[in-house]
Amino acid sequence: MPGVTNKRKKKMRATERTWKIVAVFSTILAILFCVLLVKTTVTGAQTQKVRENASAMQQSGDGTALFTSSPGQQNAGETASSGSLAGSRIIVDAGHGDTDVGTIGPLTGRYEKEVNLEIALKLKAALEQKGVDVVMTRGDDSPLGPDEEQDVGVRKEADMQKREEIIENANADLFVSIHQNRFDDASVAGPQVLYLRTEGGQEYGTEFANAMQNALNEYLPIKKPRGINGGDWRLLKKGDQPGVIIECGFFSNPEEEELLQTGEYQNKLVTAILNGIENYLL
Ligand SMILES: [Zn+2]
Repeated sequence: MPGVTNKRKKKMRATERTWKIVAVFSTILAILFCVLLVKTTVTGAQTQKVRENASAMQQSGDGTALFTSSPGQQNAGETASSGSLAGSRIIVDAGHGDTDVGTIGPLTGRYEKEVNLEIALKLKAALEQKGVDVVMTRGDDSPLGPDEEQDVGVRKEADMQKREEIIENANADLFVSIHQNRFDDASVAGPQVLYLRTEGGQEYGTEFANAMQNALNEYLPIKKPRGINGGDWRLLKKGDQPGVIIECGFFSNPEEEELLQTGEYQNKLVTAILNGIENYLL
């Protein structure tokens, strides 16, 4: 039955053609998808770059640039942590101390070094409850260098060298330094996390800094969330562990100057910092 065979052949050819068309379409779709994916990634990277450049626009009290970002732009919503911090070692540095008082609250006259120590000691207690071995650079306001030294500059240098030595010898998993910020514009507020960006432009600890910044932005009631910022910070260069400086808030903002001194807000800060550590380590 030649007629039937021809019909079948025609049908088969038609089916073949259909499959070829489907194959060509699939290939085109796949290529389009790849192009779109590459484009999105490149645009994302450019946006990040623009943000970073914008960050160098303003300078704050500790010489840190100020800028804001949308909340949770990186590692967004990472709160579910498994495992435990037990057995890890973390260095907690209460910024300033002794003759170096840090910034002074315009409203309350309170020294930054005192608030730093209060928060650092609360953080120590919270970390120890989680089984962390905490190494403090200072546990009170006494000098880290020789007490008889009268030159404030020499005294400060001896203090910094002692802190560097503690960090170097700690063999820790993380380094966290607690500070308070200030800025000429009193409306500027909110915590900001700083990481090491060397003069040569090399960056260290950005992943930890992002985890910490996101935890602070998510847990605390912040109107304008900030983004992380890099700087050539001396203590962040010591040891092999990732390290951050946490500027908990602005003494130059009257509302925040008072808030940062309340036990309730300090406890909230400590919980947020703990979240940041857990999100990064676990
Ligand atoms: Zn400071």
